[in-house]
Amino acid sequence: MRQLIAGNWKMHGLTAEAESIVGPLRHAGVLERDLLVCPPATQIAATVRMLAGSGVGVGGQDCHAATHGAHTGDISAPMLRDAGAQYVILGHSERRQDHGETDPQIRAKTQAAQAAGLRPIVCVGETDAERQVDRAFAVVGAQLLGSLPDSFTGGAFDGIVAYEPIWAIGTGRTATEADVAAMHLFIRSELTRRFGAAGQATLILYGGSVRPTNAAALLAVPHVGGALVGGASLKAEDFLAIARAK
Ligand code: PEP
Repeated sequence: MRQLIAGNWKMHGLTAEAESIVGPLRHAGVLERDLLVCPPATQIAATVRMLAGSGVGVGGQDCHAATHGAHTGDISAPMLRDAGAQYVILGHSERRQDHGETDPQIRAKTQAAQAAGLRPIVCVGETDAERQVDRAFAVVGAQLLGSLPDSFTGGAFDGIVAYEPIWAIGTGRTATEADVAAMHLFIRSELTRRFGAAGQATLILYGGSVRPTNAAALLAVPHVGGALVGGASLKAEDFLAIARAK
């Protein structure tokens, strides 16, 4: 299965910056990994236009669980789809922390995304304190159970999972390959237990200070289906270096 390198721009990307990131991606040539960029909502439609025909995917960074309604400032999954997005990141730790998002809310958003024809990328990951007291697997297991829907209109969950240890996000600290291997194997077994063959095929991304210098090693870990990249996705050169890392 092809690995996916997804860029989470977070709250970065005025028009000129978006153009400078996306331009080189359009001319990247043939890659062995798929590329996805998740700009802020204001740049989605323009990014979709700039990347038309390139094969690079575009996604949102969050969506509301409802299709429409009196929710000032929110964006629904059908709106993202309408703007041309194909994916949406859900349950990122910054949403869980800054907006108090809970597993049941993330589960509802995941169902809304799937109903709108978006592929959800559902983020899970433990804090440093939870890892110190050996609770990393318990925390991630509970997040998977709570955030992923059991099924979707007769089919299994067909989204993507991103393991992002919170202490590694934007800190320059990366999980060791052994820790990534153990957690990805655990996530794979949880997904397989719940979703059978579909769980065996689910992409599990690693996220947390992925850089051109550590990408090859992290992407070679068993059950790592790609990377969710924050800071390094804001420079096309670094993002492409990660996508090409060997
Ligand atoms: C992220 O925000 O999902 C992330 C992994 O950020 P960074 O790569 O900057 O650690």
